[in-house]
Amino acid sequence: MLIDLRSDTVTRPTPEMLKYMFSARVGDDVYKEDPSINELQEKTAKIFGKEAGLFCPSGTMTNQCAIKAHTQPGDEVICDVSAHIFNYEGGGMAFNSGVQAKLVNGDRGRFTAKQVEEVLHPQADWLPRTSLVCIENTSNRGGGSYYRLQDVKEIAEVSHKNNLALHLDGARIFNALTETGESPLEYGKLCDSISVCFSKGLGAPVGSVILGSHEFIGKARRVRKLFGGGMRQGGYLAAAAIYALDNHIGRLKEDHKRAKILGDVLKTNSMILDMLPVETNIIIFTLSDGITAEKFVQLLGRQNILVSATGKQTVRMVTHLDFTDPMLEIVEKAIKNI
Ligand SMILES: *Cc1c(COP(=O)(O)O)cnc(C)c1O
Repeated sequence: MLIDLRSDTVTRPTPEMLKYMFSARVGDDVYKEDPSINELQEKTAKIFGKEAGLFCPSGTMTNQCAIKAHTQPGDEVICDVSAHIFNYEGGGMAFNSGVQAKLVNGDRGRFTAKQVEEVLHPQADWLPRTSLVCIENTSNRGGGSYYRLQDVKEIAEVSHKNNLALHLDGARIFNALTETGESPLEYGKLCDSISVCFSKGLGAPVGSVILGSHEFIGKARRVRKLFGGGMRQGGYLAAAAIYALDNHIGRLKEDHKRAKILGDVLKTNSMILDMLPVETNIIIFTLSDGITAEKFVQLLGRQNILVSATGKQTVRMVTHLDFTDPMLEIVEKAIKNI
């Protein structure tokens, strides 16, 4: 048996999800005629209290569509130094939108309203025009850390007072909400756009939705087409996402519980020097000088356990829908014997 903890994107659709997908009603979504995609967009928008949604093939595309729709070339986008939009989207914000990042040093991926205030530019002919603030919740490179609503409220206030749009990269927003118990409607009130991924912890095979006002989604829709993301009978995929919203949110707490147990076991291993607090489903740790991340990955790999080296000395593990209690026991043993 292979146990894959590299990412929560490795999940396969459950038999029930597949059945639901096969029974989907579909149409041509470029003509807005796919009933399943329309349903998913409306359903997701309603959860967050936004006017409209747009289904895209990936979270990279929802983020990039949002950045393009919010900015003009030459603008500056405020984000954390660890942000996915800056580190893991192929330089997309420069390539697709001609904007540059203004990086902020947050606390495990989360920054404050004060930090936004410190870096946003006043108007001057020679300064880049700051136009967008992007927060990530949970933070991927921050080890699954999450914001509290009060902090997001303050960021939203500063952003809007200075005419900046606020985008939420909510690839794992439901992981955050699972821990805080806060309402997605509150996030909808504060953020001008929200990207939600279905192919992460929610366990769908493909897809993300971007949310915003009717006007914003109109712009994003045009951008999606020009990026090549206008799909036709994509409703089979949207159906998986609908199924995930209905069935897979409540179980995210299991992923968090298993991640905490794994974190505690890992801490007893003398090769592990340091670990980010395990807040949701991501575990990131640093190895002592005696062993490289590559070697550590190999050692577990020999026991059919896959984990990611995210740096020379850092390793990441992510729990998900296809990681069960019996697998957890196997991994616990392997870590103790490594
Ligand atoms: C995974 C992820 C995305 C989107 O990634 P895709 O693989 O393009 O779907 C965006 N933001 C964060 C924080 C992510 O972890």
